[in-house]
Amino acid sequence: MSVELAGYRSGRIVQGLAARIGRILSGRRMRIMHVCGTHEHTVSRHALRSILPDGFELVSGPGCPVCVCPAVDIDQAVRLARGGAVLATFGDMVRVPGGDGSLETARAEGADVRIVGSVTGAVRLALEHADRDVVFLACGFETTACTYAAAALSGPPSNFSMLTSIRLIPPALDALMRMEGVSLDGYLLPGHVCTVIGLEPFEPLAARGIPMAVAGFEPVDVLQGLALVAEQAATGSPACDNAYGRLVRRGGNAVALEAMASAFVVEDASWRGIGTIAGSGLVLRPGLEPLDARRRFGLDEETRPDSGMPAGCSCGLVLTGQAAPSDCDLYATACTPADPKGPCMISNEGACRIAHVFDEQTGGR
Ligand code: SF4
Repeated sequence: MSVELAGYRSGRIVQGLAARIGRILSGRRMRIMHVCGTHEHTVSRHALRSILPDGFELVSGPGCPVCVCPAVDIDQAVRLARGGAVLATFGDMVRVPGGDGSLETARAEGADVRIVGSVTGAVRLALEHADRDVVFLACGFETTACTYAAAALSGPPSNFSMLTSIRLIPPALDALMRMEGVSLDGYLLPGHVCTVIGLEPFEPLAARGIPMAVAGFEPVDVLQGLALVAEQAATGSPACDNAYGRLVRRGGNAVALEAMASAFVVEDASWRGIGTIAGSGLVLRPGLEPLDARRRFGLDEETRPDSGMPAGCSCGLVLTGQAAPSDCDLYATACTPADPKGPCMISNEGACRIAHVFDEQTGGR
């Protein structure tokens, strides 16, 4: 481990920050949501919840793009794969069930489903298979949307198209605060999303009274961010603080933002387990129609109702911070990483999968 990284994992600093949060709380109760599977990994891997003071609850939110990808988008991808296209996407997406099977089941039936590590891999597939349609299921948040934009604007081969399932974090956080049954005192913002879009899109939420801070992904980063959110909530001075100054700028990454604005337009979008959120999705803008798989293959006309979560799965509650994975009756019994029922157990960024992996390692302690 590098000297610099060791500093961000210093037990002495982490314990000091946890004690600081305890002093800020001074007997209050506080409930903060993070919105990032990578944050959940850090929190679980380093057992950070075990050192947080009594009364301070850190819950997972909708920070897993695979988990919130609506079943209807999976259904459209499955339909294209069964229809003869080469369907490229990330590994986690292949196992996520739609209303009519998954890409994995389509592949077992003979469909050509390929796993790629990035949109660049999908473009490369299109170059290698010039005689076939190659469709990339483009799922993700702002962090990956900028790479999709760069690919769309780079003149990809004519047999390449995208089935977009891109979601935006700020409108989701706004909607969650208004959602019945959701009770939160603030947000820990995802460092990679904020590296792209900056803090400005979150500032209207802070101005409306929601405490928040962006944090990186080492234990000290997370605790620093939580201390800032706790301070704001305790003193009634909501703001949008930056605990990830080594990467996040208030205005974000200008090149990435320009590419996204050139490639996409904002529209209302469905989040699996949550519902439709106004202005929370990106779709290819007019002028880029040939790249849009829905238009190219007439999918919008065929769209069926979304099938939601699999029967018995509580991912909707987990994604909105209303339940912990272990609250689900299927957790670690009928639903495991080897035999997952819902997207939160399938995705490496899903709260149920992360909880299960670290429960196994620690015996649930
Ligand atoms: Fe869904 Fe499985 Fe998580 Fe339950 S444990 S909420 S079934 S993914």
